[in-house]
Amino acid sequence: MSLTIRLFIISKGFHIDKSPCYGSVYLDAIGGGVLEYDVIIVGAGPAGSTTARLCAKKGLRTLLIEKDRFPRYKPCGGYLSPRVLRELDFDIGGVIESSISEMKLTFRLKDPFSIVSQDPIGYVVMRESFDHLLCRKAQDEGADLYEGRRVVGFQEDMEGVDVSIKGGESVRCRYLVGADGARSIVAQSLRGGVMRRAGVAFQGEGRLAGVKQRRWSFVHLDFGGVPYGYGWIFPKGSVVSTGIGVLFPSKGVNLKSRFERFIGCVDYIKGMNMERTCFYPLPVFSAEDLPVSKGRVLLVGDAANLIDPMTGEGISYTVRSGKMAGEAIVSAIKGDQKGISRYREALECTLFQDLTVALKLAKAVYRFPKLTYNVLKSNKNLGLLYLNILAGNAHYDAFSREMVEGIRRRLRGKSRPRLHYPWNLGKRRPTPFSSIGINGHDTEHGPSHFHSNDSKEVFSTKPRK
Ligand SMILES: Cc1cc2nc3c(=O)[nH]c(=O)nc-3n(C[C@H](O)[C@H](O)[C@H](O)COP(=O)(O)OP(=O)(O)OC[C@H]3O[C@@H](n4cnc5c(N)ncnc54)[C@H](O)[C@@H]3O)c2cc1C
Repeated sequence: MSLTIRLFIISKGFHIDKSPCYGSVYLDAIGGGVLEYDVIIVGAGPAGSTTARLCAKKGLRTLLIEKDRFPRYKPCGGYLSPRVLRELDFDIGGVIESSISEMKLTFRLKDPFSIVSQDPIGYVVMRESFDHLLCRKAQDEGADLYEGRRVVGFQEDMEGVDVSIKGGESVRCRYLVGADGARSIVAQSLRGGVMRRAGVAFQGEGRLAGVKQRRWSFVHLDFGGVPYGYGWIFPKGSVVSTGIGVLFPSKGVNLKSRFERFIGCVDYIKGMNMERTCFYPLPVFSAEDLPVSKGRVLLVGDAANLIDPMTGEGISYTVRSGKMAGEAIVSAIKGDQKGISRYREALECTLFQDLTVALKLAKAVYRFPKLTYNVLKSNKNLGLLYLNILAGNAHYDAFSREMVEGIRRRLRGKSRPRLHYPWNLGKRRPTPFSSIGINGHDTEHGPSHFHSNDSKEVFSTKPRK
């Protein structure tokens, strides 16, 4: 093929090369095919769009392929921990539906208490708008988007990867990223069809007139109603997201009927008509040594099983893995022979460490839910520490130590809270959560006394002099 024809093919449908440093790559057409893109990313969820944005920003020719068309629905509570905002270097204020300052906790809808913070402990978004924003940000940096195109397979050779799209089209790239979520076909192929262990969630969304005006600013988590999981109620502006998530599923649990019982018993959403109800897998992190890359293919987000086994939170891990995968591809294209293997190393030094502790902790905590609930209720430090984990200022190992200590004290009959800060934040910046309240409620009356407009008292947990 002549150079002129090759250049014509290269320029057709692609953006102008932003970075002269990678321009030469495109003249290295090999094996009769043209390396049309440096990187193709399957799936434009938060993982895919973050990877695409980083790659495009660094000057790589980047293509995002998404089977749906934006704005598309994704079953999700939509809760973003403050870590997510730290990871994203652009303003997402326009898509935030609710800002959260209180976490209400119940055990089988009884024995309520609240963790209240003066600083936001999270934000809730509609995934339609959040994911669309992230995708647009990737496009702004120069990534191309194929919408409504489903990837059905890929073929890797020495120099690149041919990606097949439903309908017969094929695109070629140097590196392929599987960001295609919980049911990832890229992960299945990479892992030789091995089934990944996953949790499961049943969720629904309802509307309640006037909710927006009431400025609903709490999330409600209920433990003990389902083995190895919890129920949630999150506000999303005028929409309320509810669900039951089971992180380690066991046989014989009818999630749908538990969900119906759960939402039927919470007085402030009783009678609400639930829409968009569905089951959806939760690919939680597991101790199995699953590959996250092989040859020229990398997995990010849910496709790489990065959901937190303690909380079911996935978005912050998704965004961080997308950035790490992008960095690895950039260094590989720059000539670093070990560029791609550095992706696993980066995950191991960061996310895997925390998720491994979270996994051990989750297995213990969900096995004895009542005991751990009582420990959490009686120990302000744990609540404060947990908020710091969500903010990215502390790690699970500190939480784990404090929880074990709390359980020991409880079993010895000493349930009085310890009012000091035993965890080591090392060189990390000081916690923004210096003040929270643990607000106990009337335990006699259960859910009927648990209203969204309960009075709150925020008090300092600073050590007593
Ligand atoms: C019910 C529920 C509630 C949750 N609540 C929360 C929460 O409140 N907070 C939180 O942090 N996490 C939550 N999670 C987890 C969170 O939703 C995921 O961790 C997150 O969406 C993962 O992002 P991702 O980009 O990896 O995958 P996804 O968001 O699933 O995106 C994958 C994309 O790939 C596309 N795709 C799939 N296959 C193909 C294909 N073959 N070709 C082309 N495109 C394809 C899909 O259409 C999709 O757009 C929840 C999960 C569930 C199920």
